[in-house]
Amino acid sequence: MNDITGLTLIETLKALEEKKFSSEELNKAYLERIEKINPRLNIFLEIKKNPQNMPAAIKDIICTQNIRTTAGSKILSNFVPPYSATVIDRLKEKGIGIIGKTNLDEFAMGSSGENSAYGPTKNPWNETKVPGGSSSGSAAAVAADLCTFALGTDTGGSIRQPASLCGVVGLKPSYGRVPRYGAIAMASSLDQIGPITKSVADARLVLEWISGPDGKDSNCVDPASCKVTPCAARGCLAGVRVGVPREYFGKGLDKGVEKVIREAIKKLEELGAEIVEVSLPHTEYAVAAYYIIMSSEVSSNMAKFDGIRFGSGREDFGPEVKRRIMLGTFALSTGYYDDYFAKAAEVRTLIKQDFEKAFEKCEVIVGPVSPTVAWNLGEKIEDPLTMYLSDVYTIPASLAGIPGLSVPCGFSDGLPVGLQILGKYLDEETILNIGEIYEQSTDWHNKKPDLGKEA
Ligand code: GLN
Repeated sequence: MNDITGLTLIETLKALEEKKFSSEELNKAYLERIEKINPRLNIFLEIKKNPQNMPAAIKDIICTQNIRTTAGSKILSNFVPPYSATVIDRLKEKGIGIIGKTNLDEFAMGSSGENSAYGPTKNPWNETKVPGGSSSGSAAAVAADLCTFALGTDTGGSIRQPASLCGVVGLKPSYGRVPRYGAIAMASSLDQIGPITKSVADARLVLEWISGPDGKDSNCVDPASCKVTPCAARGCLAGVRVGVPREYFGKGLDKGVEKVIREAIKKLEELGAEIVEVSLPHTEYAVAAYYIIMSSEVSSNMAKFDGIRFGSGREDFGPEVKRRIMLGTFALSTGYYDDYFAKAAEVRTLIKQDFEKAFEKCEVIVGPVSPTVAWNLGEKIEDPLTMYLSDVYTIPASLAGIPGLSVPCGFSDGLPVGLQILGKYLDEETILNIGEIYEQSTDWHNKKPDLGKEA
């Protein structure tokens, strides 16, 4: 492990303060590593040198002033935004700079990174595997130590799932916690920006930096305070009720993943938590409802890419984007609206109520992030339905607007597994605290992929 690039964000901030190294040395260490590793893994679409700043990697769907932002699409191959997203401005105020823009599934539509117009990113743990998606490059950049932390976006799982498949921490904040202004919209009622980090404490810090009301996003809520305080009592979960939804352990869940998740739950119990069984009965309808709602919003959001104001013409959309535009346009058309969109919206309410009911019995809900570990590149790309089903455990929380954290919790077949911790609306604090207590009592977060001698 490289001494500098192996550090977490908080460790790096401390080392800089103690003058163990300078920001120039910090950036040099990361850039040298990127030069060696990036050609193999195809993580960055753009690399920047800004030696004064803390090097962060930004998903290339988040607008960065004067830095090309492609959304992983050929359509925007020449798009250089004249402004930055609110989150980028907020990071800048904290002295954070952009070391690179990361690869992603086109317009964040996908679960494997393979829908990028710029070629797939490879999983740092095994270069024949997908890193997950759609924040494929951001998760891989953190796993391969090519940045101090990254930003991703999550509409149906795109922060949590790649974080899980790459063995790093990923937080999808509650809907409305982080301003979306400047993130190119996929499905506006679901999209959230969030951190992908090397530790839970880092995710808490980044969330604090980027969250809070913004005049440019009217959905952005104003919780009394956006501070997420770390809990005082370290290492003890006494009095915490952890809900385990029986629907998240059904068929389709890989046996190896299930074993790792069950062990993690046992660990929470050893730490003092009370484990309670809960039920989320409408889980089985979540993927279907999501594909109607999300595609409907996609079809509307993609209409602006008509070749007149932004980028090139519609023939440059990739197949997955076209598929969703067609699906969404159909679902919204006269005569079908009530059968599809209105019905899906009702299912969404039922899913939200499932969570509200379950949270009467517990403070957090835990389960797998993904039913499997990382799969082979090319394995599911011809089969969209199988690909869609890989988001079965992340989509419900997206529809309900509640926060979700992925924390490394072990390995199956030599590949990382993430534990998903879901919380009540706007209660990031509790999931981060429980995630951190779990993390600090296990060693999983210290495991790094072997990237060979040249790393
Ligand atoms: N994989 C899901 C999809 O393809 C989620 C994507 C996302 O969260 N951006 O829609």
